[in-house]
Amino acid sequence: MKINVGCGSKRLPGYVNVDINPAYGPDYACHADRLGFCGDGQAEEILLEAVYEHLYLTERPRALAEWRRCLCSGGRLVINWLPDAEAAAMRLSRHIRGECGADCGTRDEFPHFNLEVFERFACAPPQTHHELAYNVHKGLFTREVVRQELEAAGFHIASIEGRTYPGEHGSPVNLCIEAVKV
Ligand SMILES: [Zn+2]
Repeated sequence: MKINVGCGSKRLPGYVNVDINPAYGPDYACHADRLGFCGDGQAEEILLEAVYEHLYLTERPRALAEWRRCLCSGGRLVINWLPDAEAAAMRLSRHIRGECGADCGTRDEFPHFNLEVFERFACAPPQTHHELAYNVHKGLFTREVVRQELEAAGFHIASIEGRTYPGEHGSPVNLCIEAVKV
């Protein structure tokens, strides 16, 4: 099976879609580190789209171990749209130094990569008082940080690339990672 962890409202066909929030109507409402419906080695792919940054430092090793348990040998762990703190800091730095050009902002409504944009990107602070704590980003990531976490958990990194989110422009500030269970 293929598992879309933290699906939110984006349930994908061909995947078992899971989310901690039952309001999204996932196939299973469960935490990312407790995929009890999946037996050992039964998954060929585990996909996270803009999810890994919502796990606390203390949750991530447990979650990685659980995903590794679920994956078959050679199974793929795909972590997409992980905010790249280093790339974002570079863009904020260029903006602060007044070196920003046409590619400074991320979207038309955010023409400059200022501290507010950096905060939205790095922390995703709640926009309303009732948004839940797990919507907030729990850490800052770089290519090396995510590489070390995944390798320590028994994954081989197949690729890490910077990618621009649909609807955004400028140099990439997100990482897309493909790792393989070894
Ligand atoms: Zn700027």
